Amino acid sequence: MTTFKDLGLSPAIQQALDELGFVEPSPIQEEAIPELLAGHDVIGQAQTGTGKTAAFGLPMLQYLDPDNDEVQAIVLTPTRELCIQVTQALRSYAEHLDIEIVAVFGGAPIRSQQSQLRSGAHVVVATVGRMMDLMSRRSLVLTAARFVVLDEADEMLDLGFIEDVEKILRMCPSGRQTALFSATMPPPIKKLAEGYMYDPVTVRITPKTLTVDAIQQAFVEVPAREKTPRLVELLKTEEPEQAIIFCRTKIGASRLEKALKDKNLDVKALHGDMSQGSRDGVMIAFKDHRVRLLVATDIAARGLDVEHVTHVINFDVPNSSETYVHRIGRTGRVGRTGRAITFVTPAERDEIGRIERDVNTKIGEWETPEERLEHAPPPRRRERRERRPREREREAEATADSEAAPSDDGEAKPERNGAKDRDGDGKAPKTTKLFVNRGERSGIDEEDLRWALREGAVLPDDAVHDVRVLHRFSFVEVDPDQAERTVEYLDGTKLKGKEIRLEVAKS
Ligand code: AMP
Repeated sequence: MTTFKDLGLSPAIQQALDELGFVEPSPIQEEAIPELLAGHDVIGQAQTGTGKTAAFGLPMLQYLDPDNDEVQAIVLTPTRELCIQVTQALRSYAEHLDIEIVAVFGGAPIRSQQSQLRSGAHVVVATVGRMMDLMSRRSLVLTAARFVVLDEADEMLDLGFIEDVEKILRMCPSGRQTALFSATMPPPIKKLAEGYMYDPVTVRITPKTLTVDAIQQAFVEVPAREKTPRLVELLKTEEPEQAIIFCRTKIGASRLEKALKDKNLDVKALHGDMSQGSRDGVMIAFKDHRVRLLVATDIAARGLDVEHVTHVINFDVPNSSETYVHRIGRTGRVGRTGRAITFVTPAERDEIGRIERDVNTKIGEWETPEERLEHAPPPRRRERRERRPREREREAEATADSEAAPSDDGEAKPERNGAKDRDGDGKAPKTTKLFVNRGERSGIDEEDLRWALREGAVLPDDAVHDVRVLHRFSFVEVDPDQAERTVEYLDGTKLKGKEIRLEVAKS
């Protein structure tokens, strides 16, 4: 396994990553970081969700000189949402560095941004318009900006910012290092790269890797007039923790929001007819998990990065395969599985085949969770896990200090009595064993549980000592001081669509 240390990152950055629980670099990070550290210009073809911010951010932060108060690096973004998101991410990566990162974007008072710049910024993350504005007021000079990132370049093109981007690039030193990230590479972006980058190395995370590895995809064929009731039904069955539902038009989005609200669903809309203020409000509410369903148009959802979106639903089929990849990239974020479900009318049925060909993926017809479980391939086996589940379950019952018996409803429940000290000698136990009521039978494997511990309970890997998945239930052993938090964070949450219950195992 490649680690961040193997990529040549400094101990201070490494420490921040450890604290964030980043264990392994994502594919784009593994490829881009060494190139950027070696001083090359890089074109990264990857969308939000692949870990691209750290891919450019970490090498950038490593090269900054905290003692130099000039703006040494800029990141240009198409939207203020992305601008804020990138700033937050960079600040978390720079936690142990003495580096100031300032965000400048439209729709907020320019004065306070000017004063932040005056107080010193090593990195400026900016939307294009606001950067132009600040440059024209001489509040921002780029003569020392030796590291330039264009984030979501194709979106900047779509929004008509390319000429301004070129102007900004011309103001930066010619010896700078440039990184360009874009989900797609339309000709004007290629031309921009040719004109403003020096011998760039291209790193690509193909849609195939993104979709096949992390996202389960399905389609639902449904006549147009039955779409809304069908969606309501589907939401009941799928029980998404959080979902984004994509519509083609603003009117369609607000109509659907209303229809779902009428069904008492917890939903908000996000589209271009709303004021920036109310869009921000909705995004924040969604990110904070105060809203479960978001009905959005493509434009409004640009750059929206949310953790734990379990489902993306294409209520209207996307108008291109690229949009499809872009939309569904919002679920199945690094290391997680997500589900993407696309509605098509009978007349649009061919669209699925087209997307399958373009993206090189397979999109099957939607099945209920029960049908899915039935058709699921047998769980992956690892070397340590070759014995049959039943044997291991018996062994666990014989040797472990926990016992559990399946209840009538088939769900395992731990024995309630007879707790005893793990070591039996009165000393504090070295680990605490937790009982999880789900096992292989629910389609859960070791990696899923490790993921839940890492992402859901925010446990560092070294706090997790053992994860054993049995047929009906599992045990995980964690540092004793992490046990309570683990239970608090994970008990009652869902893993692979199934509610999981956790408690300290009793012997
Ligand atoms: P990005 O594509 O940069 O927007 O990142 C998507 C999400 O993945 C963010 O929530 C990051 O915090 C997270 N992330 C990025 N890199 C890693 C990594 N190597 N391990 C775990 N999570 C990561």
